Amino acid sequence: MNIRRMTLPLLLLVASVPLAADEHVITTSSHRLTEIANGVYLAQTTAPLFNSNSLVIVNEDDVVVVDSHITPDKARELIQSIRAITSNPITTLINTHFHYDHAHGNQVFGDDVQIIGHEYTRMKMAGTPLQETQYVLATRRNKETIANVTTMLENTTDEERRKGLKNYLDLALTQEKSWAEIQPVAPDTTLDHRMTIFRGSREIQLHFLGRAHTGGDVTVYLPAEKLAFTGDMMLQGPSFLGDGYVDEWVQTLENLKGLPFETIVPGHGNPFTDRDLIDHVQAYYEDLWGKVAKMHEQDIPVGDAAREVDMTNHASTLGVRRKGVDPQAVGRIYARLEGSD
Ligand SMILES: [Zn+2]
Repeated sequence: MNIRRMTLPLLLLVASVPLAADEHVITTSSHRLTEIANGVYLAQTTAPLFNSNSLVIVNEDDVVVVDSHITPDKARELIQSIRAITSNPITTLINTHFHYDHAHGNQVFGDDVQIIGHEYTRMKMAGTPLQETQYVLATRRNKETIANVTTMLENTTDEERRKGLKNYLDLALTQEKSWAEIQPVAPDTTLDHRMTIFRGSREIQLHFLGRAHTGGDVTVYLPAEKLAFTGDMMLQGPSFLGDGYVDEWVQTLENLKGLPFETIVPGHGNPFTDRDLIDHVQAYYEDLWGKVAKMHEQDIPVGDAAREVDMTNHASTLGVRRKGVDPQAVGRIYARLEGSD
């Protein structure tokens, strides 16, 4: 889960690494694959909705993929797109965390592909991932979208507008069908803190740096390429906090700074090199925790606190222009304050 609904403006603020020159970008019917280091590709779906990043690491004899997209359909398209860059077999899939938009493509990789994730990710995915709040809310929102757009179509005569609405409706309906196909597959191999995979001359490190966006975020670090794929624990701004550990996240990000990376590839959006961004996000979480804890002390209800909390002092660093935050963030911080794990 990410925060694509709330942070669009701040994406413009950040000094993203310009995506590599055209010869390093391969576009398929579903994906844009950008070679960000030798044999290492950022795979992004080109559809305007339901996106998350995957990392494709092409080694001498095989391929390691990080994160499997939101549905079996999207994962199939990813695998097909990988065929445009290599015929090496995919041997390994890594899940950065359990969220539906990163891990519900797992099932199409097949029994011979090893799936690696944190113990917490395995616990979540072997449990009842289709009853996880974020997944339930996302499917509910999509049903509402289908109903709303259908009504809008009935009431629109303008041909250009109808075309746009139809495209949108098609995407939502396809997503609905694809969701019905999901049979969650949990990682078959787990780590608690650290694991290293050696594939030919490639070294791939997996680090659990502490609890953050979930209880088991894994950062994939390539030491030779000085590249870290952080999933959703470090985006180009605050992440979704509804399953997070805001009180521990600042330290986890401090631990991330200990890796000698030059480039961060986030779970959504484009790669970036600006380390200051981590400081800004740490300052935001620390400030948010303090402000919300004060509201909790005053028994202010979650909804009111979410509307009232003022984070606009992070406007110049993170583009926060309006008062208020996601109620799920406040709800989660209240739960942590009340002892929830
Ligand atoms: Zn997530």
